[in-house]
Amino acid sequence: SEVLLEIENLRMHFPMYKGALIRKEVNRVRAVDGLNFKIMKGETLGLVGESGCGKSTTGRAIIQLYRPTEGSVKLRGKDLTKLSHSELHPLRRDLQMIFQDPYSSLNPRMTVGDIIAEPIKVHQLESGEAIYRRVQELMEIVGLDPRFVRRYPHEFSGGQRQRIGIARALASKPSFIVCDEPISALDVSIQAQVINLLEDLQNEFGLTYLFIAHDLAAVRQISTRIAVMYLGKMVELTSGEELYRRPMHPYTQALISAVPIPDPEVERDRERIVLTGDVPSPLKPPSGCVFHTRCPFAFEKCKKDVPEFKEAEEGHFVACHLVDDPERRKTAPNVTSP
Ligand code: SF4
Ligand code: MG
Repeated sequence: SEVLLEIENLRMHFPMYKGALIRKEVNRVRAVDGLNFKIMKGETLGLVGESGCGKSTTGRAIIQLYRPTEGSVKLRGKDLTKLSHSELHPLRRDLQMIFQDPYSSLNPRMTVGDIIAEPIKVHQLESGEAIYRRVQELMEIVGLDPRFVRRYPHEFSGGQRQRIGIARALASKPSFIVCDEPISALDVSIQAQVINLLEDLQNEFGLTYLFIAHDLAAVRQISTRIAVMYLGKMVELTSGEELYRRPMHPYTQALISAVPIPDPEVERDRERIVLTGDVPSPLKPPSGCVFHTRCPFAFEKCKKDVPEFKEAEEGHFVACHLVDDPERRKTAPNVTSP
């Protein structure tokens, strides 16, 4: 299939300064630290990791809400990081975002109609009465009653507000949408409805999604492929099915250990890895493999050398030294085999 976005060596560092007159960089948060991956046209790439691992920052850096510190983001071969703000403007139509919190991401002083109309006006897609008709059409598409067009966000439920956010994202007819934990703030009973809506919209409009979530269970249904992040790095990327069946990275294995699997055969055969300790600070990421302070398989090399993120098997990318040394993991402690 066709590549929509190609991300190379993407870094997003936030410098911290000290001093009023002479500003001196004293430290930097390495929120995203060297990502290499592709997003295929029409797929949903699930992006999973604990809070603070850099997944939202990755989404924002891809659509250029943040201009990356380093690296390139190519949309259909064109590097967005090299474009000026005015060159980028027309492309912003194509790249949209749905936010985690439907309460704070909608302007409370704007009517739903005005919120949804904004991208249509900004990108001059319709004019006059046609704007209003398009807003009503979008409300219908996301399952909102168009008669409520003059109401304010606070008059809607959480699920309905997320639908408003989705309508706003769709208004500019994008091809790519970053869905940043779009269901995390919603009641469990509403979550499936929003997932189903996103899937329907994807099929109808040929959308490509980056779907961010903090746990694997939340991305399983919707994702074509799943990427796992830890402390600013991507540690594993493959199809959803392969990731559950044969996770290669110890961190992914730990995440999967925490998710019940309905297939008893897989459930019986899998290794259990329970992590101890906290995620280190992105101000001072560990040397070598950033996961070595918590990895039950860590050995000398892990403290010194950064493992390369590479295709260990066809379509299965992983960053772990064990890929080159599979015998070693058999001797690792702290792993319980059922
Ligand atoms: Fe663990 Fe080493 Fe692999 Fe990192 S490279 S995940 S520390 S075994
Ligand atoms: Mg986030």
